[in-house]
Amino acid sequence: MKKIGSVVSAVVVLFSIFPIGCMYNQSPLPDRLLENEQISLNVSHDASAISDCDTLLITCIDYRFAVANQDFANDTLGLRDNYDHISIPGSIYNLVNPETRSLLFSKFALSVRMHLIKRVVIVSHRDCGAYGGSVAFGSEIAEYETLTADLKTSRGLFLEKYPTLKVESFLESLEKEGDQTKVKFEKIF
Ligand SMILES: [Zn+2]
Repeated sequence: MKKIGSVVSAVVVLFSIFPIGCMYNQSPLPDRLLENEQISLNVSHDASAISDCDTLLITCIDYRFAVANQDFANDTLGLRDNYDHISIPGSIYNLVNPETRSLLFSKFALSVRMHLIKRVVIVSHRDCGAYGGSVAFGSEIAEYETLTADLKTSRGLFLEKYPTLKVESFLESLEKEGDQTKVKFEKIF
């Protein structure tokens, strides 16, 4: 399977401060905030309360899925903004890659340790740029097999390190319904 992008570029992208997820959405609009202007936003729950956050959500940064990912966590999983969310290019793509695995794990481990995470929810998606998009797979079946195999591998890696963790995984895809595009989630395990 041809996977586009070198390890080096993947790592650079991973820790880049630029919103890579919006790379296809080049807006000509300038920033709306003036220099040195400060803003404050309300949080949806009492952030000063002792956290009972015990779920870590791992998703790709792809902007097409960003809103759906939040709705999925808040409503479908019932987490209501009470979860850690790590959003990285390719979701667990660089965790599966042995050359970048330890770097990724160190980021995940921080969350697991700091918030006593008991449950990890991994979401991968079809047509992921980190894999070179759907075209890189040659067929829908090949894409499905690779993505689900990577989810399975990731689950094994987490359980190897944290045997008591509950690990769930989902595969999401964009599907046309009439003139609307919807995000569908499929539970893999
Ligand atoms: Zn992606």
